[in-house]
Amino acid sequence: MYLKSLKLINFRNYNQLALEFHPKINVFVGENAQGKTNILEAIYLTSTAKSFRTSKDRELIKFDKDRAYIKVEGKKRYTDTTVELKLEEGKKKQIKLNGMTLSKNSELLNNVYVVVFSPEDLKLIKEGPSERRKFIDNEIAQMKPSYFHHLNRYNKVLMQRNNLIKKIYHNKKLMDTLDIWNEKLIELGTKLMMERERFVTRINLLSRLIHRKITENKENLEVRYMSSIELKNDFKDTLESFRKTLQEALDVDLQRGTTTFGPHRDDLGVFVNGIDIRSFGSQGQQRTCALSLKLAEIELIKGETAEYPILLLDDVMSELDIKRQTFLIKALKDVQIFITTTEMNHLNELNVNKEYIFHVKNAVVYNES
Ligand code: ATP
Ligand code: MG
Repeated sequence: MYLKSLKLINFRNYNQLALEFHPKINVFVGENAQGKTNILEAIYLTSTAKSFRTSKDRELIKFDKDRAYIKVEGKKRYTDTTVELKLEEGKKKQIKLNGMTLSKNSELLNNVYVVVFSPEDLKLIKEGPSERRKFIDNEIAQMKPSYFHHLNRYNKVLMQRNNLIKKIYHNKKLMDTLDIWNEKLIELGTKLMMERERFVTRINLLSRLIHRKITENKENLEVRYMSSIELKNDFKDTLESFRKTLQEALDVDLQRGTTTFGPHRDDLGVFVNGIDIRSFGSQGQQRTCALSLKLAEIELIKGETAEYPILLLDDVMSELDIKRQTFLIKALKDVQIFITTTEMNHLNELNVNKEYIFHVKNAVVYNES
């Protein structure tokens, strides 16, 4: 899919903005703190109703105003989609899809597909496991909104269990109530683990092919789901396996006052030619793996939804060498891309249509033509 246009009123540092986009490459160029990322953030909001930078709506509304508006018009293979968001201080977001008001934010999911790639993602491999879990969770949730719901519930149950465990340490009588929480935890946790395993299996196949191409067949990438619970072939057996592990770990859990096993401890193993790249990879290798994973994510969304997502590249081009830039753009010839950059010469090899190079200066956007 691609976006035809964007309108902003009182969003971040913008008073009013109306842009028409190219179906392929759009570039926002300007100095720091001018409003480039703000535009990408607005686009992202129309996909998930969430920002990738803040959870506070107030921050999205222009400092001296009390309400903001975002509108995008998108084109899909068979239909057009219009998404409008109204943000108002102290109120719930109001979202309209094709003119109809939605009762829940989650109803917006599965309309505008967006993948963001930022310098943070280049660190995906070398950061701690929580970053990789976030990667997995966000990707699955985009394709399957119910996953988010399970994840939120799991996290709540986990918190309750941890609280209870701390109390049991001083008051053994409370032990009787532990089973209820255990059962909820293993049921929700098993759902998460099965989804994650399915996702990683597919992302592994796709990223391996992409990685081979980027490295000219020199590197063999493997991503592996690393769970603290032994996974079985079906739901029931995995549930049993989780239950057994929880029972065995009870003493340790009570001593430590926390739940030591479960999907909240999951990680994604990343191996290149059999070597764990999280610990032993060079920076360049880690970046290339991150790039392969992101590109695989785009293919996966295409496979699931029959639409290519929109790609937001925030400040990432200057971090990639010419070879990788060229690969990225070539591999994504059917994807609409929004690029932010401080310098056009960071986009060495790209032949961008001049009309779609937008200069951003203190919340004013203009093009060269
Ligand atoms: P960089 O190249 O450093 O990433 P950028 O052009 O991407 O810069 P943005 O993050 O888009 O910059 O915009 C940052 C600017 O927006 C800052 O000057 C900030 O003060 C301003 N800003 C952020 N939120 C608001 C708001 N709610 N109201 C008014 N201005 C805001
Ligand atoms: Mg920025």
